[in-house]
Amino acid sequence: MININNKEASKAKIIHLVELRNKVLKSQHINSLPSYLVNFIKDNIDDILQGNPEELATLNTNYYRIQKSRNRRKYDTTIRKIFSYKNFSKNKKEYNLNDLSNNVSIKYCPYCNRQSTVNVRFNSIKPDFDHFFPQSKYPILGLSFYNLIPSCTICNSRFKLSKTLRLKYYPHPYLDNILDDFRFSYKYDINSKNTISIVLDKKTPIPKKVSKFMELFKIIEIYNAHNDEVFDLIKLKQIYTDRYLKILSAQTYAGLRVSQKELYRLAFGVYYDSADFSNRPFSKLKKDILEELNMI
Ligand SMILES: [Zn+2]
Repeated sequence: MININNKEASKAKIIHLVELRNKVLKSQHINSLPSYLVNFIKDNIDDILQGNPEELATLNTNYYRIQKSRNRRKYDTTIRKIFSYKNFSKNKKEYNLNDLSNNVSIKYCPYCNRQSTVNVRFNSIKPDFDHFFPQSKYPILGLSFYNLIPSCTICNSRFKLSKTLRLKYYPHPYLDNILDDFRFSYKYDINSKNTISIVLDKKTPIPKKVSKFMELFKIIEIYNAHNDEVFDLIKLKQIYTDRYLKILSAQTYAGLRVSQKELYRLAFGVYYDSADFSNRPFSKLKKDILEELNMI
């Protein structure tokens, strides 16, 4: 999982609040709520729309805690209409899902770092937005910025679905950075010398949050369908030894102004800095393997 809490996200969050604040407060559905719930929304609107993930979880708990009705879910349907993700995604005239997608500008799914999440307005190609806290159990968080994770359809609709993930047990793409908590590695398949398997490096203990995340999104299984990415790096190592970048720098790019980080990107198709990992697929995988092969 790639952490996506960057400068663009901070700007996108402010725009999100400014654009949606009054819209929510002026929603026609708000009038059908009892006054204590109207006041709850008015008092907490900024936190509901832009509170951090931990605050969001607490807000939803408080929403249920203050219910005066015996049926604590009595107003959920109305709340979902007020914080309507469906309307937000269908809206064409005002601030909508397309705008949010452009503002956060994440190119690859933060969960898998494999599938594209770019927004191509011309063909209505846009990423899914995963509700980290599912709308079914967290109705008040339908439009919360940190509850809308740009993601690919596979991660959102096949693996994550409407599972409730507790922040204590699962990493959140805006909150956690787990990149240094594990390393990808590889091993040769026992049956064939030409086939390699991608595995997790067992030298360092893998934190629970990482293993739960890997399990939920089937990262190792899916990455193994792309084991040729690793195979190519091993081939490069065999052909050029670990001097591949030095040879490129001294020969192919000799005399050209190419920095070490640019050279890395040109040679391997991924960015060197983890802050840029969401711009290209398999960034962490490739960097870990290149380090293991002593090529960087
Ligand atoms: Zn994905």
